[in-house]
Amino acid sequence: MANTPYPQSYYAASANPVPPRPALQEEVQTDVCVIGAGYTGLSSALFLLESGFKVTVLEAAKVGFGASGRNGGQIVNSYSRDIDVIERTVGPKQAQLLGHMAFEGGRIIRERVAKYNIQCDLKDGGVFAALTPKQMGHLESQKRLWERFGHTQLELMDQKRIREVVDCDQYIGGMLDMSGGHIHPLNLALGEAAAVESLGGKIYEQSPAIRIERGANPVVHTPQGKVRAKFIIVAGNAYLGGLVPELAAKSMPCGTQVITTEPLGDELARSLLPQDYCVEDCNYLLDYYRLTGDKRLIFGGGVVYGARDPANIEAIIRPKMLKAFPQLKDVKIDYAWTGNFLLTLSRLPQVGRLGDNIYYSQGCSGHGVTYTHLAGKVLAEALRGQAERFDAFAELPHYPFPGGQLLRVPFSALGAWYYSLRDRLGF
Ligand SMILES: Cc1cc2nc3c(=O)[nH]c(=O)nc-3n(C[C@H](O)[C@H](O)[C@H](O)COP(=O)(O)OP(=O)(O)OC[C@H]3O[C@@H](n4cnc5c(N)ncnc54)[C@H](O)[C@@H]3O)c2cc1C
Repeated sequence: MANTPYPQSYYAASANPVPPRPALQEEVQTDVCVIGAGYTGLSSALFLLESGFKVTVLEAAKVGFGASGRNGGQIVNSYSRDIDVIERTVGPKQAQLLGHMAFEGGRIIRERVAKYNIQCDLKDGGVFAALTPKQMGHLESQKRLWERFGHTQLELMDQKRIREVVDCDQYIGGMLDMSGGHIHPLNLALGEAAAVESLGGKIYEQSPAIRIERGANPVVHTPQGKVRAKFIIVAGNAYLGGLVPELAAKSMPCGTQVITTEPLGDELARSLLPQDYCVEDCNYLLDYYRLTGDKRLIFGGGVVYGARDPANIEAIIRPKMLKAFPQLKDVKIDYAWTGNFLLTLSRLPQVGRLGDNIYYSQGCSGHGVTYTHLAGKVLAEALRGQAERFDAFAELPHYPFPGGQLLRVPFSALGAWYYSLRDRLGF
């Protein structure tokens, strides 16, 4: 059987040691079968185990193989569309619920790291950097909005102040969120997987779910085994493929690329980001970066619609890095990789049930590190019979991409072209 390794990323090269995990080669019985061992699957599994459920996780490749083990590592609050958009889309009660949940994911991550002693280089502090007065105005209203939902660890920064936290002369100001921050994302996933196993959960790697037999007693089939479960959680996100056809129509996998420099040394690293905060700019097609535990710069940006792998990632991302930090012109790039996230048309997550016993959450459209941790909690609540918060997500409206599967890539590329033009011209 195929043995799918991690991509050649900085994260795979600096991963904490992990035990070998078997492929499923028998028939097993469980309360909940989770498909996918990214943050959505692992967070669900952990909350369910803590509530006394028996849980089996099936992972097509390895724990954290997908976006959860490849991302920028930035703990960013709220959703890929902010609460004001939600307020305009849904009724006040649903908006209140979703608004208050928007800051929970970061707390869950910190609780997990502390409770299970996860070694993942957790650092506090994330910066949203404004390139234009319009973006700065947006940050000012974002601060007021977030404070309305009880989130107060925020500081607006003028041009002088932002230069104290990031040595880049592109920004006219920004906002610091001290409950944002960053992590080594693969080590977070591996630590969560170890926590799942410490509570008696089973994780099978190299075990793709290839068919779901639906009905009162659903069965998930893998190439060499099967899982009989009371409930199924589908958490394959952008890597799910066609396993659940209903989920493919309203979402689109997209690639985004990341590079990692050689170690910069303490002095250069400190000169770029003296407080070791992470930074993302406010463009629609945004750049994001941060230091690693061993003082490399991880820099990401760009989107490839339809999740095709670009041939030369360094050629795409390095110029963006040098635009922000020309002082790195002689620095070598040690790693470059791509990963897929799942875009929805509204950019809000897609959550729901298929029948009585198949649950899913996917499509957080870019900012997913915090949301996926929250999703695990909300899915576990729903399986325990407390579905109010789950329903608040499940009732968000979702629409298929215009033109269906065939046209969704050109349509989104056109949208991205329009937004990148807006970013460049500042309107
Ligand atoms: C390059 C990149 C950078 C990003 N940077 C950030 C960031 O800095 N901050 C932020 O908030 N968000 C970021 N994101 C988004 C964030 O990483 C994702 O939203 C989040 O990790 C999604 O988690 P997930 O568990 O839903 O999906 P994934 O992590 O993709 O996990 C899905 C898993 O399911 C498995 N799977 C799929 N199908 C099957 C099957 N049939 N059977 C068994 N297993 C299956 C896959 O192998 C995979 O391991 C980034 C994404 C990418 C790609």
